[in-house]
Amino acid sequence: MSQATEAAEADEVEEGVPAISIRGLRKEFGSVVAVDGVDLDIANGEFFSMLGPSGSGKTTVLRMVAGFEPPTSGRIELGGVDVTKDPPFARDVNTVFQDYALFPHMSVVQNVEYGLRVKKVPRAERRSRAQEALERVRLGQYGDRRPSQLSGGQRQRVALARALVNRPRVLLLDEPLGALDLKLRREMQVELKELQRDLGITFLFVTHDQEEALTMSDRIAVFNEGRIQQVATPRDLYELPATPFVAGFVGTSNVVDGDAATKLLGEPGTFSVRPEKIQLHLDASHVPTQDAVTAAGVVREVVYLGSATQSIVDLDHGGSLIVLRQNQQSSAEGDEAGRGARVHLSWLRAHTVSVTAAEPTTSSTPSHSKELS
Ligand code: ATP
Repeated sequence: MSQATEAAEADEVEEGVPAISIRGLRKEFGSVVAVDGVDLDIANGEFFSMLGPSGSGKTTVLRMVAGFEPPTSGRIELGGVDVTKDPPFARDVNTVFQDYALFPHMSVVQNVEYGLRVKKVPRAERRSRAQEALERVRLGQYGDRRPSQLSGGQRQRVALARALVNRPRVLLLDEPLGALDLKLRREMQVELKELQRDLGITFLFVTHDQEEALTMSDRIAVFNEGRIQQVATPRDLYELPATPFVAGFVGTSNVVDGDAATKLLGEPGTFSVRPEKIQLHLDASHVPTQDAVTAAGVVREVVYLGSATQSIVDLDHGGSLIVLRQNQQSSAEGDEAGRGARVHLSWLRAHTVSVTAAEPTTSSTPSHSKELS
């Protein structure tokens, strides 16, 4: 039976029960609170990412789900079964680490079948399962090589095959693409997402790279200082960030607050608007007024990015905004908006998002950021 069929059948049995359920999870290392009250439900077959800056607690959550680290308090269920006190080998999960942790003295196929050997799976069966896993990651011809005879991306795929061979219901991935160069990383992102979709396995993925999380995930939890700030789909996270932290961490964002917010938007608060939503005009008569927020200012900096140009504009009302324009035509009006140019900005009022959430979202449900209407 193929892995995909097995995973699909397993899902049927436990339909509606989350693959991973976390409640009130907390971890203290001495005086350091690494994880501070995390609640999450992750569905079967979901590609779920934990995203956050270094030290925000995401790896510690992953390690507690794997069973490598006992929680200080809280509860972890896998498929509806409380595993909080179970050792790693008793949990139906496998982990792929950033450094791959391959055995250098073993061939690729021996590395992949190692877990099955430990479980005393007969030789013929473990060979065929290892070969199947290697073919899954497009390394069917590489079984006899040593890890040192492979490229970084191939080694990463061996690590993946070694986890998949156990046919886990949940795969835990701790920055698995972190050691790859940017181009390979992008290729592997697409491959990993396709593989996950094919297999129907639940992926819990740790990354500090917001672009990676947006590209691959069904949903993302944004961590900061041990707490979840927001759980949402990539689109909602980007379009409707709940807190100033999320607005700043996911994509480039303009956060407007204080006097500038009141003057621009007619009400006090903290607001976010994405750089690509803002239009830049040299001529005030071109500025739309209907349903739009408008502002005037002076260009402080212009950065040419190839496909787009980024401008930083100091506003007359105080504060500054970043504006991103696609370089569709070299003769666009905005091209004359060099440093020191006086410009007018406008954006649809609906693209201004209130991020005044006093408290971060710690529940597993999407947050309640809102667009201004
Ligand atoms: P990174 O992306 O750098 O791995 P992270 O978000 O995964 O960061 P964690 O590794 O979970 O963060 O660490 C969270 C906090 O807990 C940090 O302040 C870290 O120093 C601390 N920490 C993690 N493991 C230990 C440990 N074994 N002993 C003491 N403190 C620890």
